[in-house]
Amino acid sequence: MITARDHIAAMASYALADLTPPQGKRLISLAQNESLRLPSPTAIAAARDALASSALYPDPDWSDLRSAIGEVHRAALEAILCGAGSMELIGCIVQCFAGSGDEVLASEYSYAFFRTATQVAQADYVAAAEENLTVSVDALLGAVSGRTRVVFVANPGNPTGTVLPLPEIVRLRDALPDGVLLVIDEAYGEFADMPGNSTFDLVERGNTIVLRTFSKAYGLAGLRVGWGLFPPGIAAEVRKLLNPNNISIASQVAAAAAMRDQSYMRETCRQTGDQRDGFGESVRRLGLHVPQSSTNFVLIGFETDRSAQLADAALRDQGIFMRGMAGYGLAHALRATIAGADDMRLALDVLSDFCTKETQS
Ligand SMILES: *Cc1c(COP(=O)(O)O)cnc(C)c1O
Repeated sequence: MITARDHIAAMASYALADLTPPQGKRLISLAQNESLRLPSPTAIAAARDALASSALYPDPDWSDLRSAIGEVHRAALEAILCGAGSMELIGCIVQCFAGSGDEVLASEYSYAFFRTATQVAQADYVAAAEENLTVSVDALLGAVSGRTRVVFVANPGNPTGTVLPLPEIVRLRDALPDGVLLVIDEAYGEFADMPGNSTFDLVERGNTIVLRTFSKAYGLAGLRVGWGLFPPGIAAEVRKLLNPNNISIASQVAAAAAMRDQSYMRETCRQTGDQRDGFGESVRRLGLHVPQSSTNFVLIGFETDRSAQLADAALRDQGIFMRGMAGYGLAHALRATIAGADDMRLALDVLSDFCTKETQS
């Protein structure tokens, strides 16, 4: 039988969440950082209308979608590329700039797909230590070598939820060699956006990419649309690697409508932030460690790896699926996506029972 190329055969399968609830239990998925709200009604209506055009290939230039992004973010259309999720963009960026003998640098608890994309490209993945579950610019700079081609920073971070302040990002860009590409993955950027705090100006320097997605704050994870701001020369190269018909007609129109419904998205962020801060505070009161999050999830740190495993099992018994963090080097932690009030109350009840029993035993 034919065998896969060695570097592919050596890779583990991408670790997706296991989401099979116990018999008779409703699934409460807090595992994949999906939105607590349905998509904007205008996005749903646009997608439904567009289905009638499905005999045609989609617009390969994402013209209307790019216009919507450009209007809202005041970006030049040539700077915008759209992907089948930002995962497609991440994969193509690595493939475009790194290969065998090159290094891709990220931080200790970075998004797992950075490593996967690096392995596919046959480059070497290097992880720099974090400090207090936050990206350390000094550690990143200390890990740069003559072979470093791409540096990824997820900001806010996944799975930590923590933010690296803009001046630190600027310090990182200023200190990196010109020939090193900095990719700032802002998949959760909408939850952390503050006026005057945008990284988008950095793109004009020519060696920085900022990525965003419709999967989180816009609630369109199932439609697979990501986008990024690229220096034009880099956009032209990365574009050669994208599937030319990468985003379906229904997905393009839904994403454009969602982008034009900023007030709906901001309300989603507001509701998420309220639930998150309330839940985080309650979990801290149980004696667990929860770093301040600027995303739609929180990282819950337990005393030991064993406690995290037992709590995960207790939650699963009730149909509640958080994400175990052993694969991220945080085996003592679970990552909980912020869902609606009822689901978060149930999760808190289970954690509270668990902590009570644990102190008694
Ligand atoms: C969810 C996530 C993405 C991927 O999003 P898609 O656009 O759905 O592919 C990228 N980066 C980080 C850090 C994420 O958490």
